[in-house]
Parts: sequence; C-alpha cells; structure tokens
Amino acid sequence: MTTATPSRPAITPANVRNPILDEVGLPLDPDNLYNQTVGVVLTAAEMLGLPKFVQLIMAQPKNEIMVHFPVKMDSGEYQLFKGYRVQHNNALGPYKGGLRFHHDVHLDDVKSLALLMTMKCSLVHIPFGGGKGGVKCNPRDLSQGELMRVTRRFCAAISHAIGPDYDIPAPDVGTNAQVMAWFADTYESLTDSNRNSWDALRVVTGKPVEIGGSLGREKATGQGVVDVLVEMLPELGIKMEGMKFSLIGYGNVGSWTGRILAKLGAKLVAVMDHTGAIRSDKGIDTEALAEHVAKSGGVGAYGAASKISTEEFYKTKVDVLVPAALEQMIKEQEARWIDAKVIAEGANAPTTPGGDRVLNERGIEVLPAILCNAGGVTVSYFEWIQNKSCTRWTEERVDRELNQHMVEAAARTKRARQRYGCDMRTASYIASLDNIAKAYAIRGIFP
Ligand code: NAD
Repeated sequence: MTTATPSRPAITPANVRNPILDEVGLPLDPDNLYNQTVGVVLTAAEMLGLPKFVQLIMAQPKNEIMVHFPVKMDSGEYQLFKGYRVQHNNALGPYKGGLRFHHDVHLDDVKSLALLMTMKCSLVHIPFGGGKGGVKCNPRDLSQGELMRVTRRFCAAISHAIGPDYDIPAPDVGTNAQVMAWFADTYESLTDSNRNSWDALRVVTGKPVEIGGSLGREKATGQGVVDVLVEMLPELGIKMEGMKFSLIGYGNVGSWTGRILAKLGAKLVAVMDHTGAIRSDKGIDTEALAEHVAKSGGVGAYGAASKISTEEFYKTKVDVLVPAALEQMIKEQEARWIDAKVIAEGANAPTTPGGDRVLNERGIEVLPAILCNAGGVTVSYFEWIQNKSCTRWTEERVDRELNQHMVEAAARTKRARQRYGCDMRTASYIASLDNIAKAYAIRGIFP
C-alpha cells in the first residue's frame, strides 16, 4: 500500500481555536458538530490563504430558518413539529441540499450539513450553493398518512423561503422519492403556478421518475462513492476484485454502495446499522440483504451472517470501510478499533476531528465525504437541468456524466494534496474553497 503520510498534517490540534470562530460568535464547544466542521474548513482556508472576508462569510450560514407547525395525527390529536431550513451560501448558484427527518435533528447539525453542501457543490463544479433542512421526528413511528401531512405542513411553512431557482431541497436520512413527491405537489399547489405547474416541481430533486425524477438518481450517491474508489484504489495498492469491505448503514447510500461494489467483484464482510451488526467471512449477499432490510427495517436479524458487537464490527479486518449512516460515529475510540486501509466517507461528517487525528497517526487513508458522497447532488443537478430543459437523459448518460464529475473532483483533490502536502480532507476543502474564492473575487460584495 502506498498511503502517503501527509508531510504537513493539516488537522487542527485539539487545543487550537481559529479566531474567526470568536469573531462570528460561535460558542466554545469542541464536541459541537458545527464547530468541528467549520474549524476544519477554516484550517483549509488558512492554508489556501483565503481572504479574511470570505472566511467570515463561510463561517456562518446566510439564513437559518426555524419553524413550528401542528399536524393532525391518526389518533385525532394534534402534534407540534419543529423544522429547519439553513441556507449557507449561494455565491455559485441556488441553495441546494437535502431534507432530513430524524428524531435527533438540531440546528447545529443542519448548519454543518448546509456548510458541507456548499463545499461539495463547489468541489464537483456544479452551479449550486449549500443548504440543508430537516424535521425533528421519527419517520419510523409515523403512518404513511402522518408522514405525508408532516411533509406537506413543513413545505407550507418554508414555501416562502425556497424555490426552483432559489433553494432546492432533496432526500436525505429518513426521506425518499415519495416524500419529495408530496413536497413538490404541495409547493406547486401553494405557489402561483397556474401557467407553469410542471416547472414548480423543479423545487425539489430526487423525485420519482414519473414526475420528473432522473434515471440513476436513487443509486447516485452510492455510484459516486464507487466511482471515487475506482479512481483512488490503484494508487493505494488495493485491487477491486476480491477487495474486502464493510458498511455502516444499509439505507440508500450504504446499500447502493454495497450492491455496486459487489457487482465489481468486491466482498462485503460486515455491516452495522441501528438494529445491530453482522459479519460473514464468506461474504454477505448484498441483494438478499437489501431485500431483508426492505422487509424488516434493518440488518440486525439477517439470518445468513453472524451477529457481532459494535466493537467487533469496527475491529473486522477490511480493505475499505464505508461509513454511510450518521455524523460523528468515528471518534477516537472507533478510530483506534478500525482495521481498514481506507475509509471512504459515504455519510456526511462521520469522522470527528479527534477520530481523524487517530486515523491520520495510524496511516489510514480517509477519502472525505465532500468528495465521496457528491454523486447524489451531482445527479440532482442533472435532474434539475432535465426539468428546466424538458428533456430526459438515459441512465447511461447520467452514469457517464456523473463519472466525469467524480473523476475530475478526485483529480482536483489529489492536485491540492500534492501542492499543499496535507491530508485528503483538507485537500478537498482547499480545492473547493479555491473555486468559491474565485467567484467572490469576480462578483465582489454588494453594495
Ligand atoms: P437512509 O435513511 O437511507 O439510511 C441511513 C442508515 O443509517 C440506515 O441504514 C440506518 O439504519 C443507519 N443508522 C441510523 N442510525 C444508526 C446508528 N446509530 N448506528 C448505525 N447505523 C445507523 O439515509 P441515506 O440517505 O443513506 O444517508 C446516509 C448518510 O449519507 C447521511 O449522512 C446522509 O447525509 C448522507 N448522504 C446521503 C445522500 C443521499 O443521496 N441519500 C447524499 C449525500 C450524503
């Protein structure tokens, strides 16, 4: 393996706080996800020599919207829900980012994810900025009718602040194409769309194909993870055929990454999700596991593999570990347990700065989230173009153009790594910020 140890580690030491964080008034909390995310971005900004005014702009989102809305439950009672939409930056194009329905959604998580969307869209050179939203709820506890009413009321609550050319949501954890369809239908009904109702549906991407969704969108994030691995593995000394890998999460990103890698000859040996962890040294049938999860809701009770503990999961020897679940799962302890050569971040922000430091010390290569999981938003962009131009691309064209964006983004990251001698995450942030800095240099700041 030729994992390069960074000649100039860019990971901010735990006891160093960037003064920009104080200037924009962020509280001192090293465990806070937003502080962690923006801290690493600002470290990259300093290495790049990003002008201070751009650093200040990047350090806080432009808009933070918080709403409360009542929904009639099946019991006849009303329940009050809390929703968020954060619009981080639109220097490169309309705000763009997913909607998360999860019981543990907080404003600072949504802010972090919105910032990462700004970084991601810029890295893959698509004309979007960064946004993110969410509703604090557990979709598994809601009936289909309740889920639809939560979606429609949330859309109504934020409809004045979004739009097909202003802010375009998409699916994320706990939401899917059906949720996007209800969202689009509600937005279209609430806006002045008598003359162009189809165009109003462009307000979200990740829609079902029948109402303007793109072929290849459902698998796009997993496909993008695989495209990056195909591009990066040869120089890390790993062959795809027979490569052993493990997954955290077997939802949209995890299951598609697993199924596509298996088709290329790699072997899934361990999976962990919210229902437990499983392992099989013979390899896990990725299609059969997807069917099992669709029926049972998780991997925990899958019969054709052994149940293992969380610690055993992390200690399973693999070539590649793909975290594809939630944020902050790989902290120092997990980073010490991991027995992998490479981590390909399918999830957003799965590794804390502390976890990053341990992985870096141990020479484990981390392929960062803004590169690995950019496939979803890239195909969302293709969907938006198709809607805007009333065309339909073939799946082959979607896959081909996605691959081109992923390969070019990987090349930008590698170039920045070489030039600045840093880890891959910092390199991806440098490449992304460089693009944003150019836009600010040309546009300037109003007035
Ligand atoms: P999903 O809801 O389809 O799947 C989430 C998975 O996480 C499930 O398998 C669930 O069991 C697992 N999970 C939840 N809590 C867990 C826990 N405590 N321990 C272990 N596993 C747990 O969501 P998704 O769309 O696949 O998103 C996964 C990640 O990828 C998120 O970070 C999301 O922001 C990111 N992402 C998604 C997309 C997309 O297109 N869906 C695009 C880019 C990034």
